[in-house]
Amino acid sequence: MLLELLKENVKISYEISSIFFTLIIIIFMRMKSWGKGKGTTKSFRCMAYSGMIWNIVEVISPTLLRSDLNGTFWDAVKILIDGSQFTWGHVTLLAFVFYLEHYTSYKHKTWMRQLNVAILLFSTFAVVSNPVTHWVFTYWGPVLGYTKGPLYLWAGYMPAMVYGVYALFLYIRNFRGFILREKIALLGTILMVFLGSSLQVFFNGQIKITALFASYGLFILYLALETSDYLNLVSARSELEEARESANAASQAKSIFIASMSHEIRTPMNAILGINEMILKETKEEKTLVYAKDMKTSGETLLTIINDVLDISKMEAGRLEIRDDKYHLSQLIDELSYETREATTAKRLDFELNLDESLPDLLLGDKPHLQQVFHNLLDNAVKYTNRGKITFDIQGERDGEFVHLVGRVEDTGVGIKPNDIPTLFQNFHRVDLERNRSIEGTGLGLSLSKKILTLMGGRISVASQYEIGSIFTVEITQKVIGDQSIYDYRKEAGEYNPLTRKIENVEDKRFLVVDDNEMNLKVAKAFLASSGAEIITEQDSVKALELIKTEHFDLIFLDDLMPRLNGSAIMTRVKRAESGVNKETPIIVMTANSTGGEEEKYLEMGFDGYVAKPVKEDKLVEVVNRFV
Ligand code: ADP
Repeated sequence: MLLELLKENVKISYEISSIFFTLIIIIFMRMKSWGKGKGTTKSFRCMAYSGMIWNIVEVISPTLLRSDLNGTFWDAVKILIDGSQFTWGHVTLLAFVFYLEHYTSYKHKTWMRQLNVAILLFSTFAVVSNPVTHWVFTYWGPVLGYTKGPLYLWAGYMPAMVYGVYALFLYIRNFRGFILREKIALLGTILMVFLGSSLQVFFNGQIKITALFASYGLFILYLALETSDYLNLVSARSELEEARESANAASQAKSIFIASMSHEIRTPMNAILGINEMILKETKEEKTLVYAKDMKTSGETLLTIINDVLDISKMEAGRLEIRDDKYHLSQLIDELSYETREATTAKRLDFELNLDESLPDLLLGDKPHLQQVFHNLLDNAVKYTNRGKITFDIQGERDGEFVHLVGRVEDTGVGIKPNDIPTLFQNFHRVDLERNRSIEGTGLGLSLSKKILTLMGGRISVASQYEIGSIFTVEITQKVIGDQSIYDYRKEAGEYNPLTRKIENVEDKRFLVVDDNEMNLKVAKAFLASSGAEIITEQDSVKALELIKTEHFDLIFLDDLMPRLNGSAIMTRVKRAESGVNKETPIIVMTANSTGGEEEKYLEMGFDGYVAKPVKEDKLVEVVNRFV
């Protein structure tokens, strides 16, 4: 029977062999699903079954067309079956697109999927209604053959073109994400289908060869990607991916927890350090002064630790940002040397600053973070040196609009053993613990410094001789935005010294400070007292808003996070009001929030200035002098 059919219709031999090919795949596929291992992928099964039907239709159709069955009914059946070759080809191709999709992460997948299904429905509708509408083609019998209808190309070939191009697009887009075997197998299948359909066009549709080539493609996929070992590999890979995601989520949660914890710790720290500052200023008793100085040192160390932990957690959560802004290099160096000079004097060490004063002064960079790096190094140098000298050396080389800065911190301290040098820059890693145990530290400073510098495009290196001393070198390039040298700037502005900063006398002014924490109010009041201005404090945010509406102030300080009404909400109401006694008054936010980019965020919101908690007296002085 089959032989007779073949003898009569030699043209369908390709389709017949294709049926055998697909049948083998289906048999293997079924056998696999009986075993214990993983079966085949759903879209693969869909491809195999619809491919099989496609082939069968391609065999039945010419046979049916040549048969003696005639009449309206049989004519309609003939046209329907013949036209459904298109439909089954499209279903098979679309199943391949779905198959490809689960290897890729294309973000418009969902709506592309809807579009593709809509195209399939449109073409299927055209085919099914064709016996009546003749939109796709009209069949005039074995002698006259076909004439094309108005939707012939749209319903017959357009879907295949769209699926083919989309499959190629998905493949190329995700190329890097595939492992080698996926690359080869998927490309092999795509090429097979393109080759088959091109050949079919080449033979002018006389030989139907696309389905045969599609079944070769199925074979390739089956042997390469539907084997048990590969499917196990895929599921192991996706389990690993899930595990990685949940580990990341846990680490993020930890970082967020640490960030909010350190905010909570900084609030009382503000009060402790501030009140201590008041004791330092006001006490006349020698003994109390010594205690208060010790408290200041420990308090500041604690604050450094909190800040380091916060920075590390921000860095791990990917939230530490480098923000470039204008800054005076001389000011950065003066602030650092001022602190170091104080610390070295207390430890009876010498301090030497070697500065190339011809360096450009006005630069573009992230001053707070750069300062933090040098602060860590200078702080370590003092910590790990018991006698001798700390040298801070800043040189640089001008290169067009940039300057390559090289900063060196050298000490004559305990030094580092060569074996310990590689681990120096790791989180929480402290070295030579036997000897350094009595020295306070967390092992975070150097690792943080290195990370910050890397983010800035800089480098840090160390050279050390055990028991003799160490040299830490920082290299960083900054953009120059003004040609004035440090020497010139200093001649004009003088050297920076926090002690010489005082609030200018503003006796006739009135300041309002709003904070829900009573201690913080006391501290702010004490810091602002030397200005001679009248300081009004308010703990209740709603009452504060009433005050602002009715009385004029020259400067308003607001805490942000308060019960009932936030500082930001108060500020917005005052600034948005049509008129008001304080419409023009500068409003400064005072907050312990420090999850990154706070200052910029608050200024954008509409505040005129920003003071971080724990409040430093010199920062407050700077704000008052700027605004009043
Ligand atoms: P720590 O908080 O312990 O000082 P760091 O990350 O700043 O943490 O430093 C890591 C370790 O490197 C320190 O514990 C110390 O052993 C060593 N170290 C850092 N700087 C020096 C230095 N200038 N001299 C000797 N050892 C140092």
